[in-house]
Amino acid sequence: MSENALPADRSARSERIAARTRNSDWRKPPRRIETAECITCDSCLRGCPAEFGAIVDRGLDVVIIPELCSGCPACVLECPVDCIYVDEDWSPSDDSLWNLVEFPAETR
Ligand code: SF4
Ligand code: SF4
Repeated sequence: MSENALPADRSARSERIAARTRNSDWRKPPRRIETAECITCDSCLRGCPAEFGAIVDRGLDVVIIPELCSGCPACVLECPVDCIYVDEDWSPSDDSLWNLVEFPAETR
């Protein structure tokens, strides 16, 4: 492995971001945050494992990128108001959302 190589899990996230696709091996549906109930405490954002990094803070709200969300569901355990729901009918994220997603610094 080269000095700058990412661990496999972080590299997989980078590939998902580049391809804008969800891992087809993930059996659980992604989660979504109900904005009307969310108190924007950011606990879920801190609780989402780095290999997924699926939650972004948009300033006024916090959103889950479904393509990056494995449905694990670590964030649900962190949420104090229980407003993170299964999203069976998720739709692909648009450009404005992808623009908020950061690649791991090592890939820049
Ligand atoms: S379900 Fe897991 S991967 Fe998805 S946003 Fe929550 S913590 Fe992150
Ligand atoms: S943990 Fe719950 S209340 Fe806090 S930002 Fe996340 S979804 Fe919102």
